[in-house]
Amino acid sequence: MADEQAPNDTPSRQSGGGAGQGGSPSADSKPQIGDSRPAPKIGDSRPAPQGDGAQNQGGDGQPKKRRRRRGGRGRGRGGQGGGGQNQNGQNQNNRGGQQKQGVRPAPVEAITSGDAVELDEKTLKRRRGRTRKGKAVGRYLMCVHVGPKATQIATLEGRKLLEHQVSRPADDISQIHGNIYLGRVQNVLPGMEAAFVDIATPKNAVLYAGDVQYDADDLDNEGKGEKRGGKQPRIEDVLKAKQSILTQVTKNPIAHKGARLTQEVSLPGRFVVLVPNSSTYGISKRLPDGERKRLRNILDKAKPKQHGVIVRTAAENVTAEEIKADVDRLLAQWDDIEKLSKSTKAPALLYREPEAAVRIIREEFTKDFRGVIIDDKELFEEVKGYVEAITPALADRIEYYDEEAEGLPLFERQHIDEQLRKALDRKVWLPGGGSLIIEGTEALTVIDVNTGKNVGKSSLEETVFRNNLEAAEEVANQLRLRDIGGIIVIDFVDMEVAKNRDEVIKTFRQALARDKTRTQVFDISELGLVEMTRKRIGEGLLESVTTACDSCDGRGHVMIDGILD
Ligand SMILES: [Zn+2]
Repeated sequence: MADEQAPNDTPSRQSGGGAGQGGSPSADSKPQIGDSRPAPKIGDSRPAPQGDGAQNQGGDGQPKKRRRRRGGRGRGRGGQGGGGQNQNGQNQNNRGGQQKQGVRPAPVEAITSGDAVELDEKTLKRRRGRTRKGKAVGRYLMCVHVGPKATQIATLEGRKLLEHQVSRPADDISQIHGNIYLGRVQNVLPGMEAAFVDIATPKNAVLYAGDVQYDADDLDNEGKGEKRGGKQPRIEDVLKAKQSILTQVTKNPIAHKGARLTQEVSLPGRFVVLVPNSSTYGISKRLPDGERKRLRNILDKAKPKQHGVIVRTAAENVTAEEIKADVDRLLAQWDDIEKLSKSTKAPALLYREPEAAVRIIREEFTKDFRGVIIDDKELFEEVKGYVEAITPALADRIEYYDEEAEGLPLFERQHIDEQLRKALDRKVWLPGGGSLIIEGTEALTVIDVNTGKNVGKSSLEETVFRNNLEAAEEVANQLRLRDIGGIIVIDFVDMEVAKNRDEVIKTFRQALARDKTRTQVFDISELGLVEMTRKRIGEGLLESVTTACDSCDGRGHVMIDGILD
């Protein structure tokens, strides 16, 4: 027990330019192309269910309020017949997973309303963010635009667009990260050390041997585990076709690849992550020692014996009552999920993650945000209620933007649209006159750095060095803004001086450290190229807001009439 893994706080994304933190070093030191094999470490790309209010079944007498989901994290009814009475029973026409079975009970959903734990005025005051002349002060601003086809979430630092996410109505198929399913094993592939699992989505999901959980007593073929040096038993000894398994999505399906699954389910709350039926016990290493000790004392009492917990950085200075409330919420939710798993036939969705906006707030909202502006009344109310329940001191930072009254769309008012448009260009100008050309291919993204109009003042080496430093910062910004994942190769302009090369790489790593998504940068190659990987979380900005051109099929060339006839 008590193995102090450093749970990284924002489950799905992580910072750091080098090898990863905590967890199994072996899985980490390898380049992770955002996706391939190694098992997810605790706190790494951990799915992130739940968030919420007080207790499960509307403790304050309110029935579970469910909003209609249009643009938001659309509810495609994966695996549930139109007859399933869901939430508010509205228009649940199934655009999602194929209907493999008839009527299904509705999946468990995160509770986003409830009563806040009462806090004394002193605590509240400390938790409120800073203000200046009555206006909230903070580095970041989140803008949420709910449109008919998608909900877009933009994060600004000052006025600069840092990140942008799109969540579409068909998301019960493509954005299922964190959802929990009762899956049905389709086939086990010993040669791939993996199993394909039907989770009622169009594509079967993949469960790798390293993500399989097993009970040694249940093994058909006893002793096999030991023979393999006490390591994971072979997947074919643990899983059989047609078997039903409780499983959680750790990675959304991308292009032709199915979703990735794990059997180690976890339910993130605001302050703790509950890991059902596990001995996991961790407290974020980012917290100071004294605080870790205080939290350990609280958890020793609040932690359910049979389940594991990971305490997140957000628990800093949070009261015992608040932590207890968070644990209780997650427990109630787990009970519901377990109950449903016993009364349902696989494949079925058991638990669905909340709206993108709610998830992001659960993971990221702090007093460093001067506000969250939402242009949809219904979503605004849900988010406001949620924040009132978990972080009441910051609830007044959630604002509604009435486009009609304002006379200008939110994204225009905040100059987000123009920044997004620029983020779709191949070319990005650098302050000194140089530029970047960003070109995506199927296997990797190539970024070419040019000095262009940057003529500098002293020597050529100095000009190139300055230009590369600017490029290093800008490449990091662009990767984050464009949400580019996978392998990335950067061709900086050649530098003669080794010290300058090192300085550029150092600057680049520092700039990448601000990105919560995990990246890994390798040393400059013989040809002067920098290779790196960035974990693939979303599909990428370009892919999420465009489709390939009909005329050239994405090549950017139109055949001259008659030339090859
Ligand atoms: Zn074209």
